[in-house]
Amino acid sequence: AGRLKGKIAVVTAAGQGIGRAIAEAFVAEGATVYASDLTRDKLDDLRRVKRAKLDVRSTRAVEKYAEKIGDIDILVNVAGFVHHGTVLDCSEKDWDFSFDLNVKSMHRTIAAFLPGMLRRAGNSGTSASIINLSSGASSLKGAPNRYTYGATKAAVIGLTKSVAVDFIRQGVRCNAICPGTVRSPSWEARVEELGQSVGGTDKAMEMFVSRQPMGRVGEASEIAALALYLASDESAFTTGTAIPIDGGWTL
Ligand code: NAD
Repeated sequence: AGRLKGKIAVVTAAGQGIGRAIAEAFVAEGATVYASDLTRDKLDDLRRVKRAKLDVRSTRAVEKYAEKIGDIDILVNVAGFVHHGTVLDCSEKDWDFSFDLNVKSMHRTIAAFLPGMLRRAGNSGTSASIINLSSGASSLKGAPNRYTYGATKAAVIGLTKSVAVDFIRQGVRCNAICPGTVRSPSWEARVEELGQSVGGTDKAMEMFVSRQPMGRVGEASEIAALALYLASDESAFTTGTAIPIDGGWTL
């Protein structure tokens, strides 16, 4: 314990899945954690965090949130949505929604929190860290029926590298995490939905697991362990990376 002692962290979409696991891991390592989600109720049983409703699609809400919190060390951008289908299934509205939630939200939070992160990095002499949730389905790999999703998550990697290179001498690092399939409430919903067309949830589960070379899906806590490393000063020499954590999916 204590790997994030004295650090102040902001985690979006902390209500469930990967975001929740990251918030819990950061708290356990001594950080002060500001946990937000679009749905405030999902945060109710998250212990020892500062909870808030935050819609990362609202620039004004993000700016107000950043003003209220002030200077921070760690920003984790988790909010994202999986649109299903090919280019032929993607309306302009679908495209705009996915890019707004999966990519522009990160622009909003980084633009709002970075000035304070630069101040903290300058004052404390340690590195501030921005962590963006991308995916194996991105520039790393084309996944079937993940057209818009893959495009957004590739954009996240580009955004990550740009921020990393622009602030590399100012104590702010920026990295992307690229998970394979990870058990989460929204993944379980995707399995059930697929189950309806392939003859049952068990069959759908088998299909998801069979595309994982390791023969299992990941756990949110495993992604949180990587986020914890990237958030801490243990990773002080790491910036601009897009790290796969996927049971060999992109292998
Ligand atoms: P999830 O999809 O189960 O939960 C998403 C959370 O985001 C919910 O709590 C929801 O309320 C919140 N949210 C939705 N819209 C929001 C908004 N406008 N503002 C703030 N919060 C909002 O979580 P997950 O499956 O753990 O995925 C988390 C991130 O990891 C996403 O960016 C996802 O693309 C990425 N990812 C997940 C997997 C996976 O298999 N689960 C794989 C690769 C990448």
